[in-house]
Amino acid sequence: MNIRLFNTMSRQIEDFKPLAPGHVGFYSCGPTVYHYTHVGNLRTFIHNDILKRMFIENGFTVHHVMNITDVGHLTNDDDDSGQDKMEKGAARDNKSVWDIAKFYKDEFLRDISDLNILRPTDMPHATDYINEQIELVKKLEKMGYTYEIPGDGIYYDTSKFPEYGKLTGGTLAGNQAGARVEFNHLKRNLTDFALWKFSPTNEKRQMEWDSPWGIGFPGWHAECSAMSMKLLGNHFDIHSGGEDLARIHHTNEIAQSEPITGAPWVSYWVHSSFLLDKTGEKMSKSKGEFLRLESIRSRGIDPIVYRYLITLGHFQTQLAFSWDAMDAAEAGYKNIVRRVADFMTDKNGGDLIPDVYSGWHDKMLSAVSDNLKTASALVIFQDLLKDTSVNPKTKLALVEFVDRLLGLQFMDRAQKLYDLESVAAPDEIVQMAQQRITAKLSKDWETADALRMQIDAAGWTVLDTKDGFKLVKKA
Ligand code: AMP
Ligand code: ZN
Repeated sequence: MNIRLFNTMSRQIEDFKPLAPGHVGFYSCGPTVYHYTHVGNLRTFIHNDILKRMFIENGFTVHHVMNITDVGHLTNDDDDSGQDKMEKGAARDNKSVWDIAKFYKDEFLRDISDLNILRPTDMPHATDYINEQIELVKKLEKMGYTYEIPGDGIYYDTSKFPEYGKLTGGTLAGNQAGARVEFNHLKRNLTDFALWKFSPTNEKRQMEWDSPWGIGFPGWHAECSAMSMKLLGNHFDIHSGGEDLARIHHTNEIAQSEPITGAPWVSYWVHSSFLLDKTGEKMSKSKGEFLRLESIRSRGIDPIVYRYLITLGHFQTQLAFSWDAMDAAEAGYKNIVRRVADFMTDKNGGDLIPDVYSGWHDKMLSAVSDNLKTASALVIFQDLLKDTSVNPKTKLALVEFVDRLLGLQFMDRAQKLYDLESVAAPDEIVQMAQQRITAKLSKDWETADALRMQIDAAGWTVLDTKDGFKLVKKA
């Protein structure tokens, strides 16, 4: 199937051509584990996962690397100043940096598992690749790209890389204009960035290492260049992240990598647009107030509904989070699960019809293969569910396919609903339901309501059907 992707580098939708036939090398910038992952970060991780699933359904093998940033990401990453976010998080939580890294990584893993995000092939920690980062800086130093700011660190001289800023279409001057005004005046160019930072002399950092330049820690951008080259080789297919990463982080990764690997280091750059908060601002960890997947769980909403909400949009369009949108997505999701459970109940499901299956399969896969048009695939999916000419057996096989492609777990939730509905209610509950019908027929609403509440309290839900009632055990 033809695969097309918007490439930030060319600002165009391009046909995808892998470096090695049938294989995709894929690197995604992962979480900085100084705080909980918020639903904005998770939006980007869901889009990454759909991208990967699309390749898998097209028959590719995917080597997916997602890093865990546990050192060196400073609070002002525009100009390499401020505190290390990890040290700041540790002070806030009154724990060691190593403890918070483990704690927030475990929370992140729980969230991605609840969102049915496939585990990356490798999840390297920046702190496990310090030698590789030092080697990278040594190579750049040897090639003449670096200089030292005494007492501060080793910096990359962006004027030595004529293509600096090409990812966002910027010239060096343009990128400089966009950089922060209150910059470090000892830098040769506004856009220069730290490759290695020296530990402050007046305080002891929890994370620091010896290096040819003195005790310190790597600059944030170094980890992604060093780890991707180590795990995916000097050239790989796709590099992804949120839209905030293009102008500085990815631009700097390219500047560090291409002198070593030759250009292009990466074939396709894929950036997901922001999830916005209710004020219309980027949801962000540093603002303190942010929504987590836990906020969704604690409202009694199945976390997979958040994945469904994200899948209803396009990865290049910003999305404002609201509880109204979540509630609407929940209703839509439950509706699909209801229909799927009904197909399971249909005892005359028939046989799978291969031609019908492949027609629908190809339509949905080609929508997602066309720059990840997940919403279009879901419209086709809704049409399929409604189409009475497709038998239940074929529909269920296609639901399984959609679950593999979009990871929405419709089959699993429908099976649970089906199982609950298949449990026979005890006699006394059935009797109460019958008495309720009698009360309703004689317009005795008070008794009918009281009976419904009693049934409810006993752990059952009574539903009105055209033939009378149905009793469903509560989950
Ligand atoms: P961080 O943990 O801040 O390093 O970010 C992890 C990933 O989430 C990166 O790819 C970011 O670009 C992405 N990200 C951060 N904030 C948002 C947001 N509000 N919406 C979508 N993606 C985001
Ligand atoms: Zn990165």
